[in-house]
Amino acid sequence: MDIEVLDFDRKVNRLVFAARDTTGAFVNALRRTVANEVPVMAVEDVEVRKNSSVLYDEVIAHRLGLVPLKTDLESYTLPEECKCGGAGCARCQAKLTLVADDAGIVYSEMMKPKDPKVKPVFSGMPIVKLLKGQKLEVEVTAVLGKGKAHVKWKPGLLYYKHYPVIRMSGEIKDASLVERFPDVFEQKGGRVVVKEAGFAKSHLTDSIDELSGGAVSVQEKEDDFVVYLESWGQLDCKEILESAVKILDAKLDSFKEELTRKA
Ligand SMILES: [Zn+2]
Repeated sequence: MDIEVLDFDRKVNRLVFAARDTTGAFVNALRRTVANEVPVMAVEDVEVRKNSSVLYDEVIAHRLGLVPLKTDLESYTLPEECKCGGAGCARCQAKLTLVADDAGIVYSEMMKPKDPKVKPVFSGMPIVKLLKGQKLEVEVTAVLGKGKAHVKWKPGLLYYKHYPVIRMSGEIKDASLVERFPDVFEQKGGRVVVKEAGFAKSHLTDSIDELSGGAVSVQEKEDDFVVYLESWGQLDCKEILESAVKILDAKLDSFKEELTRKA
């Protein structure tokens, strides 16, 4: 398999790469592993000490659960794989507290971590609005978990398409395309042409025929794919992929072992 990075935006944690000479089965296995198996931290238990806000405890707990937390896969293990047997210890749990008694909106960054490595990824995520005299005081426990159990433990989204091949059958007449889609079209020698690399990673594959007035048609390469990975921020794209590959590898090993034992 041949890998080529087409785009990596560190700021929004998004990676686009071409995977050549592979199969849909493999790329899909990678997608499923990222969605279901790569563990990340999320709030699992909420101890509400004080809540006089308008929202029920359950609603606040749900909102806290969906706040993405920075994940350190080196220092933490899944509760079910921990030496403590899932009872809860410093290797499998991280605590954060949230105390607010000022009128106004309570934001994600007000969750104060005991371990500075396990903190909200984004600030400015609203939890609840407090009126004068209202108070919220909670302690939460975050644990590693997998996306197949709950969406709060998903590290991001991986999706893909076949690598597109552009066939020109005429001239593109609409010059405003260059301005509208500068990554995909460019002006060359007085003509509008398609930038191949830009087009491969763009989402215009299905609409290019119409956009170009029939001048461009698209075919798909059977064994080549464009893979998009968008991280929700708990892990960076590289960590997600490395973890997914490790997990997939271990699954294949255990399959092989089982097969050898039974056959
Ligand atoms: Zn433990």
